[in-house]
Amino acid sequence: MLSQLSKNLGLRIQLILTLLVLLTAIPIGLLWYHSSEQVRLQTIERLYHHSSETIYHQLDNFFSEARSVYQHQQRIEANLPTIVQDRDELIAYLANVLNHHFTIDYFYFANNDGGLLSLGQDWDKHFIRLESENGVAGPLTSYQTLYNGKGGVATSTTDHFDARTREWYQRALTSDKPIWSDLYPGAIDQNQLGITLSKALRDENNQIVGVWGLDITLTSVVNELIKAKPSENSTVALVNEDGQIVASSNPLHRPQEGQPITVNSPQSDALGPLWQQIRLHVQQKHNELHVESTLPFTYQGQDWVSYHTDYPLSAKRNMRIVLYSPLSDLTPGFLQAKHYAIIITVLMIALATYYGSLGTRYILTPIRQLTKIAEEISQGKWDKKITVDRDDEVGQLEKSFNKMTTHIESTIRQLDQQQQETKRLNTLLEEQNLQLEERVRARTEELSIANRQLRELAYIDPLTGIANRRHFWEQFEQSSKDADGWLLILDIDNFKQLNDHFGHVTGDLALQHFAKCCQNSLADGDYIGRIGGEEFAIWSEGRNAEQVRQLTDQIFEGLEKSPLKVQDTSIVITTSIGATRCVPGKLSCYAIADRMLYKAKQTGKSKAVIDTQLHSNNLV
Ligand code: GH3
Ligand code: MG
Ligand code: MG
Repeated sequence: MLSQLSKNLGLRIQLILTLLVLLTAIPIGLLWYHSSEQVRLQTIERLYHHSSETIYHQLDNFFSEARSVYQHQQRIEANLPTIVQDRDELIAYLANVLNHHFTIDYFYFANNDGGLLSLGQDWDKHFIRLESENGVAGPLTSYQTLYNGKGGVATSTTDHFDARTREWYQRALTSDKPIWSDLYPGAIDQNQLGITLSKALRDENNQIVGVWGLDITLTSVVNELIKAKPSENSTVALVNEDGQIVASSNPLHRPQEGQPITVNSPQSDALGPLWQQIRLHVQQKHNELHVESTLPFTYQGQDWVSYHTDYPLSAKRNMRIVLYSPLSDLTPGFLQAKHYAIIITVLMIALATYYGSLGTRYILTPIRQLTKIAEEISQGKWDKKITVDRDDEVGQLEKSFNKMTTHIESTIRQLDQQQQETKRLNTLLEEQNLQLEERVRARTEELSIANRQLRELAYIDPLTGIANRRHFWEQFEQSSKDADGWLLILDIDNFKQLNDHFGHVTGDLALQHFAKCCQNSLADGDYIGRIGGEEFAIWSEGRNAEQVRQLTDQIFEGLEKSPLKVQDTSIVITTSIGATRCVPGKLSCYAIADRMLYKAKQTGKSKAVIDTQLHSNNLV
């Protein structure tokens, strides 16, 4: 695979491009994603914070308004024990307060006999007066009255009501300040929870005259919570320290059978698990005055996010405002953007891969063409050219390549022609060499013939074909140096007369004839030479004097028996012979033999005078 990769430039370029795109797109995508996550959380936090503040202020409106009623009371504190004694004055006072504080549902006074006088509005905004019979504990009647609390029609009666038994009453007695009650179900609609801010009224002797009570039903709070919801599926809940859901925008959290539901109830949905986290978080930060935070959590496999902050109902009692919602509910835009980010990243990678492969092909196609053409050219197809259809660097390369091939082609053609010419010249040269060799051979042969002829001319007598004078005496020098032999000198008798009589041509024939006759008489190892005009010499070895005599006789006999025939005339040639024995160290052999010849001439010719002396002492 790797070796395949190392051979495939296109694949490598594409891989590098894809890697580059991944290296660029992924960090950008991650950065963007991360920053968008941050922005998202910050946005949610701001949104929650804003909602929470709204709720906080709304609650403050509700609860501080109740407190302000008692603050106002301080101004007329001295009159209050008097006011509460007079029923009409009390009703007027209650009505006045109610009309100035719309968030208060009921305002009432309970005397120390357990009697109650209360003014307020029901769910349908009807004015209601509750009044104990005779101002003491006993039957309590509900009247639908005018706005000022006066008059009215009795709508219902409770058999026995003793305010002193009520929690709000009991609590008020324990403090000089207004004090909040626990949640309790409404007198008319049990599922409408309420909360009472009660305050004891004392006379100048600090004796209890009775207890004031301000009711706030949480229906109004719930309405405000619903308004403050940051999104459709969000829940805004008010939870007290005991985990009771005081009020909530979620209908599932509504009280049942007059009892508030707790965070552990089955209806409390996501709030149940969330509350565990909030409790933990609050415990961890117990030193801090105001604990608030955004917490992410998972519920039923979905991502949720929450925000909680405390709301101090009084110095000792705290409630917690809790907002939570599915993450998708709050940040659909962000989720969409996240998807867009992923889609854009994938698109970028796909586009980069696509254009990368296009680009790679755009770059590599001419290179592959070049390779193919180069391959074909290497096989001798010089006419191959690349089609140039671009003007960029690659186009320039293709043009240059075509130029180069044209140049190489013409160079190769020239080289081919030169090679042909060289071949032709070589053949010619070979032919000429052969001719020359032939001529040299012929000339050498001629020369050797000429040499031989020259040598023959130098050593052989041209007329008789036997050794000439020089050659004979050279041979004689060699032979007589270390051999025992005989030197014979022969001179044709009366040759002048033969010449004169028969002519020189016949004389020449006679000379040839004479040489032949002498040669016929010689034995192996003997040799003859012409040492003058009609003078000849013979060297013979291995003979004694007698055998020399036999040789000369043989010559005489041969000449006699075979005369020279010229124009029907037989000419008998005779010769005189002088001979001497030659041993190594003997001097003047020729002179002795020549003297012997002279003797033969002097004594009648046609004879041989043979000297047998071993030394030449007697020569002189
Ligand atoms: P003798 O018996 O005393 O020897 O008498 P001769 O006539 O032979 O003596 P001489 O020496 O006076 O003569 C030799 C002659 O030989 C003289 C010359 O003309 C002849 N002669 C020498 N060489 C040649 C030759 O080559 N051809 C011919 N035809 N004659 C030659
Ligand atoms: Mg002579
Ligand atoms: Mg002679």
